[in-house]
Amino acid sequence: MEKLIITAAITGSRIGRDATPYIPITPGEITESAIECWKAGASVVHIHVRDPETGQGTQDREVFRRVMEPLREKTDLLICMTTSGIPGKNLSIDERLAPVSLKPDLASLDAGSINLGGGVFVNTPEFLDRATQVFQEFGIKPELEIFDLGMMVTCLRMRNEGKLKDPLHFQFVLGTPWGAPATPKTLLLLHENLPANATWSIIGIGKNHLPMSMMALAMDGHIRVGLEDNLYYSRGKLAEKNAQFVERIVRIAAEYGRDIAAPNEARRILGMPALTPIR
Ligand code: ZN
Repeated sequence: MEKLIITAAITGSRIGRDATPYIPITPGEITESAIECWKAGASVVHIHVRDPETGQGTQDREVFRRVMEPLREKTDLLICMTTSGIPGKNLSIDERLAPVSLKPDLASLDAGSINLGGGVFVNTPEFLDRATQVFQEFGIKPELEIFDLGMMVTCLRMRNEGKLKDPLHFQFVLGTPWGAPATPKTLLLLHENLPANATWSIIGIGKNHLPMSMMALAMDGHIRVGLEDNLYYSRGKLAEKNAQFVERIVRIAAEYGRDIAAPNEARRILGMPALTPIR
């Protein structure tokens, strides 16, 4: 059984302090939470940033830099940067892709449009083509976010067209109110469509977090945790730190007998070059 990659999704761009007082907002809070997750066993952090004044999500390169620099300096984490834009803001393709010039290891690529949070999460074919080109230019591996089967079809077509290069890495997002449900059958169907050598991880939204994580544990997949996807640690009880979610998966994996991948092992599993030490 392959070692388990735990990704921590620290904050997202939607959730405010009205929903939970524990959501990291400032670059300092996001960085600190990411470091706690790394110490707890996460090898990848999925990073959105917020405008420190308004708390709203932003694609401002400078704010991303204020998170990435300390993470590069203090940890060997793989950094997965979002390119999803900000809900309701309709950012241009260039605005969405601007921060990837900071060269994160991975960047999310949402492989199609879908209703989300009361609006439309727009990912046009033009965006997908441009993003894959820009990622290639900066040596970034795409993390292919899949909300339904059609997005998988899109990725397989882009692979056939040579726009996505093996080995592909997928992040299944199951249990959003408008996308594929978080059920074992849905996961099996997506899994059946994985191309050769692909790796995959899973996000179970909200109460689906643990059931989907257990499926991934048994099926040799990887697991994403964190406040972007799930505010509650257990029924009615808010999670107070992202690291709590990481610690729980580490404990369960230990009982199950699956080892946790350190960041350099995660690079190997994902088919990425080893990190050259900067210190
Ligand atoms: Zn995200």
